[in-house]
Parts: sequence; C-alpha cells; structure tokens
Amino acid sequence: MLKIDHEICNRCGLCQKTCPFGAVAVAGERLAVDERCTLCGACVNVCPQSALAIERRQASPEELSRYRGVFVWAECETSENTLRPRRVVYELLGRGRALADRLGQALTAVVLGDSRLAGLERLCHQGADRVLTCRHELLARYSTDGFATVLSAVVAKEKPAVLLFGATPNGRDLAPRVAARLRLGLTADCTGLEIDAAGQLVQTRPAFGGNIMASIVTPYTRPQCATVRPNVFAALPADDRRPVVIEEFPVQLAKAAIRTRVVETVEIPCEEAKLEEARVIVAAGRGLGDPAHLEPLRGIARSLGGALAGSRAIVELGWIPHTLQVGQSGTTVGPDLYIAAGISGAIQHVVGMSSARRVIAINTDPEAPIFNLADLGVVGDARAILPRLLELLPAPTCKETR
Ligand SMILES: Cc1cc2nc3c(=O)[nH]c(=O)nc-3n(C[C@H](O)[C@H](O)[C@H](O)COP(=O)(O)OP(=O)(O)OC[C@H]3O[C@@H](n4cnc5c(N)ncnc54)[C@H](O)[C@@H]3O)c2cc1C
Repeated sequence: MLKIDHEICNRCGLCQKTCPFGAVAVAGERLAVDERCTLCGACVNVCPQSALAIERRQASPEELSRYRGVFVWAECETSENTLRPRRVVYELLGRGRALADRLGQALTAVVLGDSRLAGLERLCHQGADRVLTCRHELLARYSTDGFATVLSAVVAKEKPAVLLFGATPNGRDLAPRVAARLRLGLTADCTGLEIDAAGQLVQTRPAFGGNIMASIVTPYTRPQCATVRPNVFAALPADDRRPVVIEEFPVQLAKAAIRTRVVETVEIPCEEAKLEEARVIVAAGRGLGDPAHLEPLRGIARSLGGALAGSRAIVELGWIPHTLQVGQSGTTVGPDLYIAAGISGAIQHVVGMSSARRVIAINTDPEAPIFNLADLGVVGDARAILPRLLELLPAPTCKETR
C-alpha cells in the first residue's frame, strides 16, 4: 500500500501531476490515494519531501499466479526519422516465444516512443502475439525517469510473469530502475532462459569470473526480470501470416517526472559502434606479440566488410580500446564468421563469441582451448599467416572507418 506521511507532506501536487493512473490527489488539507493506485512508484520517486513510501508484503503463491504472460521491452532506435525496434528485440522475442509457449501464455512487445514509431508489425511477424505501444512526446528520446515511469506503470497494470530487456546501454539503465521501483529481482546478462517444471523462469548467467554458470530463480516476486545481451539468442524468421495485434497503452507522463535534460549527443566512431552487428569479426589476442601485427587483421576486416576486435589481454596492453573487447566484460558478438588469431580461448572470451556461426582459429599451440569450438583450426604462426591471407583477399569493398 502507498503510505503518506501527512506530517511532512506539503501538498505541492507533484505526485498528482506524475501519477500515471490519476490515483493520488490533493483533496482539501490532505493528500489522498484511491483504488486506482497500482503501486508503480512514480509518485514516491518524485516527492521532494520523501513523504511517500510503498509498503509491500510478500505475495502469496495465488497472487503470484495472477501474473501472466511474457513481456519484452522493445527498445527502438532512430532510423531516417522513424523509431524502429533494435535487432536485439527480435532476439528476445525469439526466446520469449519459446518461454511463452512453455507457459501457455501470450508474448507481448512493449514499445515506448512518440508519433515516429514505425515497423511494429514485424514484432508480431517475428514472435509477438501483441504489441503494446506507449506514445507520448516526452518519450521521443530515451530518458531514465520517463521510460522507468511509463514501463513501471505498464507492468503494474498488466502484471506480466516475465519481463525481458536487451542488455544495451539503455536496457542496463532501465531494467534496474524498474526493478527497484517495483521491488523486484533482476538477473543481468543472462545467457540462458528456461521455464522449469514449477513454471518459474530459470535464469542462467556466468558467475565467479565465468568459472561457473549460476541458475537463478525469483520465487517471491513477479514479474521475473532479466537482461540479455545482444547476440545471445536467435531471432525467429519473419512469418507475415502471423496476426498483427497493436494496442495503445494510455500514457500519462508529466515533464516534472523527468529530472534530467540531454545537453549534448556525441556520436561514437563507426568502427567501434558496429561490433555487435558485424557479420565478420577478425579478433586479435596476445599471441600476436606486438600491436604492429594488428595491421593485417585490420586489412582483412576491411576486405571482408567486417570489424576488428580483440581479447581483454590486448585491451589491457593498450593495443585496442575497450569498446573492441569481446567477452564477458566486453561485448557479446554473433557474427557469421569469427577469426581468432593468437587468442587462447579462455572461458571469459568464449562466452562473448560462442554464438558465432563459423569460427576460424589460428594458434601455435595445438592444445589451445579455442580449437574446441573452431570449425577450422590452423596450427601456426598468425604473424606469418595473416599477411599471406590478406594478399589472397580482394581489395576492400567497404568504406574505411578510421
Ligand atoms: C572477471 C574476468 C573477466 C574477463 N573478461 C574477459 C573478456 O571480456 N574478454 C577476454 O578476452 N578476456 C577476459 N578475461 C581474461 C581472460 O581470462 C584471458 O586472460 C584472456 O582472454 C586472454 O587473452 P588472450 O587469449 O589474448 O591471451 P593469452 O591467454 O595469453 O593467449 C595467447 C594465445 O596466443 C597463442 N600464440 C602465441 N604466439 C602465437 C603466434 N605467433 N601465432 C598464433 N598464436 C600464438 C598462444 O598459444 C596462446 O594460446 C577476463 C578475466 C576475468 C578474471
């Protein structure tokens, strides 16, 4: 329940403006809350006097069973003045479809944006049973407060059993905010999601430096929230015979709910930004011995229209920036082809590239673990092999990015 400390409430009315459900109002000398309150937490967050608090008791199994359906936050990006779902959304829908089928419940994509939202039918073609759109001019670009307020309201009203986010920069920001507001658990960077015999979401992720895989369940709260990095799950092929159901969620969002202002937007240089989406990645490891040996890899990447990347070892040596690091503490990638040169194949590296369709490994040590997942293993000196390979490749067809 929502607790109001009438001693310190000065009836400023900010909570009234912010409540997405019109459930709190200043009535005469007192602030009052009515039955429309969903405990979404928007008012608690904005109260300058800290006069509001939510008291939650542990939900009973019957209450938990009222939470139904799998929801995916369909994060959008700007493309030619439209807002369209990012690639990771389709990957989450791919996995979400399997979870929803196992539960015998529906899969919903929740989209936040303004009037520029477009291409939403594809969400249904690639797995969703329904798209729930939240349109408002204050959702034109991502803000932590605005998105957390609206998504918390959606969750409080719709009561899903599972809520998934892409572990993108914004997803990593939004998921913990929503979870904290609604007092939920959250498992970050899951590499596996299953439904167990009791209908609970089993969230698997590496723990203790990647040495063990932990299976985490959330028995006492709903929804069960998880983030998943891009390139972990596969998207379903589009099926345009699937019915398209798009519904509007009524959004009430006041400017007062958003406490931050975007002052400047800085574009990241193209090569660094495209790693997650690259179809070909040429990755270097400490075995190359010297940063001068990165040049042939750069050339191969350009020739194949791909991206250069590397292990944490060479990031720590200062050969490449952290934005190009693949692995547990770097980026997770899922290219069609991954060439690993002078990389041993430590588990923390492998968890970031094991979804690659084809792996070519070049290593002097025939026992190197990277060969365990290589489709083609070359035992030899990468410093001699890579320049030779570059000679055999056609001249670059893509634009140079650096
Ligand atoms: C919490 C934590 C998080 C981590 N996160 C990440 C991460 O995100 N990404 C990551 O990559 N690592 C990560 N690491 C580090 C990881 O454990 C390894 O130390 C690292 O991946 C090793 O990098 P490497 O394979 O380039 O170097 P090395 O392990 O030193 O391997 C070099 C390889 O090159 C081979 N070699 C030597 N000479 C040649 C040659 N001339 N030609 C061909 N091959 C040659 C060697 O046989 C060897 O197999 C993490 C570690 C921890 C503890």
